[in-house]
Amino acid sequence: MKKIVKHDQDVIRQHNKQMILDIIKEKRPISRAEITKITKLSPTSVGRIVGELCEQGLVRETELSSGGVGRKAIMLDIDPQAVFSIGVDIGKKIVRFGVMEFSGKLLYELPVGHTAIETEADRTIDLIADTINRLVKEQGLDRSKLIGIGIGVPGVIDHERGVVQYSSTLGWRNVPLAAQIKERTGIDTVTDNDLKVKILAEYLCGSARGSKKTALIELGTGVGSSLIIDGEIFRGGSNSAGELGHTTLDPNGNLCECGKRGCLQTYIDESAILHEANRIVEIGDIGQLFEAARSDESWAKEIISRTSLYIGIAINNIVCMYNPDAVILSGNMVENYSDIVSLIEEQCAQVVWEPFRGGFKILASDLKERSIVIGAASLVLNNYVNQS
Ligand SMILES: [Zn+2]
Repeated sequence: MKKIVKHDQDVIRQHNKQMILDIIKEKRPISRAEITKITKLSPTSVGRIVGELCEQGLVRETELSSGGVGRKAIMLDIDPQAVFSIGVDIGKKIVRFGVMEFSGKLLYELPVGHTAIETEADRTIDLIADTINRLVKEQGLDRSKLIGIGIGVPGVIDHERGVVQYSSTLGWRNVPLAAQIKERTGIDTVTDNDLKVKILAEYLCGSARGSKKTALIELGTGVGSSLIIDGEIFRGGSNSAGELGHTTLDPNGNLCECGKRGCLQTYIDESAILHEANRIVEIGDIGQLFEAARSDESWAKEIISRTSLYIGIAINNIVCMYNPDAVILSGNMVENYSDIVSLIEEQCAQVVWEPFRGGFKILASDLKERSIVIGAASLVLNNYVNQS
């Protein structure tokens, strides 16, 4: 029993520390008294936590004149370059890299082409390790301030052990990614599911800022989702919560890659839509379908309208289960054809259960293709604050 109480206290302590740091980051510079007012914590607690942050070198005191009164007050500010992290996004065709400073700003970004599905995992791991080693050298990054690498990977990820258990996008099974990158770079590495870090990024600096309960739906080559509640990523038992693409829509429906029939993704992912379109007109990619819809071709508009309906149904299911205040739409489909967002909103006005209508916002991803890099790098910074 005692152990549980201790654990709860640790969680609250970490939560308060992160909250105070976020406030300093947002309102910099700010006084201890103002933080006390905003957080409603006791001045003693605020003082203790600020002391910890100063000791870690993350926050520093600056003396500034306050307002027109001319009185000097001790203000607190973060040290934007106290530490750095590197974010990596392993996609099907591109690996993206980004260097983030402690303030959350991306200092440097680099996309590198690769073909994961046609090569062994080792080749991609080599590419990542070599690129990071080169980047650290070329950018003159101080290794003593480089606290870690965060990697976002599509698939089922054991984030505690840093293992990619299964990724159909990359064709990987049981790849000890974090350990191998650490071995080749000498830098601590964490890895997590791409949509889990994506929603963290949207929460910290994208379209979910200020949202308390956010769901994210990815629409592209695959279909997935993630959820963040008061800044905490909802993981489920084995970090697999949110596998929306394999929720069953029709037990007698199309065969899915997972072996089941009628999974949601067999109706709305890119290959499903392409397959549907090609029964009518031969097209090579999803862009051509959207192009045809823009030119008012009815077959294309019909396919997109039906896709929007199924997406609306998926949103209804998520909203009924989790009651979020915002649903973010992200992925290729939304990024290449933003008109679909208003179509989905129209469908939601019909298919979302009435008590929930108007109770949540539908938003497009703000950070788009940079979101996974930002989220993965932020995960490292957050872990550093919480574990120290
Ligand atoms: Zn499936």
